[in-house]
Amino acid sequence: MALSFSISATIFPPNQEESKFKNRKTAKGIENARNLVKTSRVLSLATSPHESLQKGNWVKLICGASFEDVVDIRNLSMVYTLAGVDCIDCAADAAVVSAVNEGIDAAMEVVELRRPWVMISVNDDDDLHFRKAVIAEFDPDDCPMDCSRPCELVCPANAIKLDDHGGVITERCYGCGRCFPVCPYDKIREVTYIRDVATTSELLRRSDVDAIEIHTSGRQDLILQFCLWKTKKKKNYCDVCNVINLCDVCRQTDPFKELWDGLRNSTECMKLVAISLPYTGDSTMSVMNEMHSIMEPHLKCLNLWQLDGRPMSGDIGRGATRESIAFAVRLAAAKDRPLGFLQLAGGTNAHTADGLRKEGLFQTTLGNSNDVRSVLASPSSAFIDGVAYGGYARKIVGRVLSSMPSQQGPGSIEDYPELLVEALGLALGLVGSHRDHALSQKKLFVDDVELRIDEVEVRGWAN
Ligand code: SF4
Ligand code: SF4
Repeated sequence: MALSFSISATIFPPNQEESKFKNRKTAKGIENARNLVKTSRVLSLATSPHESLQKGNWVKLICGASFEDVVDIRNLSMVYTLAGVDCIDCAADAAVVSAVNEGIDAAMEVVELRRPWVMISVNDDDDLHFRKAVIAEFDPDDCPMDCSRPCELVCPANAIKLDDHGGVITERCYGCGRCFPVCPYDKIREVTYIRDVATTSELLRRSDVDAIEIHTSGRQDLILQFCLWKTKKKKNYCDVCNVINLCDVCRQTDPFKELWDGLRNSTECMKLVAISLPYTGDSTMSVMNEMHSIMEPHLKCLNLWQLDGRPMSGDIGRGATRESIAFAVRLAAAKDRPLGFLQLAGGTNAHTADGLRKEGLFQTTLGNSNDVRSVLASPSSAFIDGVAYGGYARKIVGRVLSSMPSQQGPGSIEDYPELLVEALGLALGLVGSHRDHALSQKKLFVDDVELRIDEVEVRGWAN
């Protein structure tokens, strides 16, 4: 994954640039970052997120539905905006949304880009992405002295610091669950939560929020089974359109419908509504069609299905992406899927683009129609319109962020230009892997020094 380019242009006069970025060294680093972006050819500086969806090369950064470290989120947003992502997905929290927008603004000070969409994530019921590890009744002093602290070692977010913080740093925990089974004394608990509808509606009214994603567990399948049992019918879905036909009482118990009814008026000014769901076997298509039939009468914008293969596992390694690609293969083969773009998540990493290409799932360009319905009703039969990168994207750039000096308090990555360039090289490599496979054979240089842009085997967030 790499890019080939030469550095030459200076966009701002040096004195103007220096006053903007504090000193000559920083200004030079910013110039390097700017030139990386402008000459990388990985991203289309002028291509809108809408066009990326249409062309099938949409890339989303997932900051994490529960990750709330605003300093890291601001810096991640800056780096991945420069790398050309189309959307940044974050927790439905006002401070987090502001941090994302601050990062985007910082990137746009470096180079004039089109703005990525900002998406907030909510859930309709219990969901792995909406939980935190807590050591509630836990006093670190209670931990046996001879415990090797596997909880600290296994956490991919550096969210457990027993000595410095006395437990879990709540805003950094994103609920991956890896610490739960490793504690030999069963001291770590999980707390799940559901994002509040009123708070979410308020966030959706902000002008700097463009999209919403609803995480659902596909529990409609259980409701379907219960409804069948209760009504003593043999089946309760339509043979033609595959939409589930629940009885009125059961339909009212659907948590997805309840959430959608609470939010639907606030979604009217959104550019995109995404539904994130796991594979639930043979019922997946019925569940998707049922959700689409609930949304359809009030859907005024584009919609997208996020196929969540193996949640929060992209940083583990090559194998993690197999489930998301298998999910994509099943969906691509289905004839009766509802309207909406398809995008992978859950286990996505530097191996995902190759896996998709091997399966022939990259969509051909559809053109630039602005007619939402005609775009979604495209006859294209086997395509994936984009990929979302979460844990892996955070891990490769997080490793660089964690090397920022901390003694001066929370920092902005552009104050450390060498680190900004290093992080940007990694981010461009990942985003570029989806946009142009041919670039993987090339190399990336800054001031004649080759940048490392392939971090497939990075071992830890902070190592
Ligand atoms: S291992 Fe996962 S669940 Fe546990 S504290 Fe770290 S991020 Fe949270
Ligand atoms: S693994 Fe369990 S007992 Fe050991 S330090 Fe962590 S929380 Fe304490």
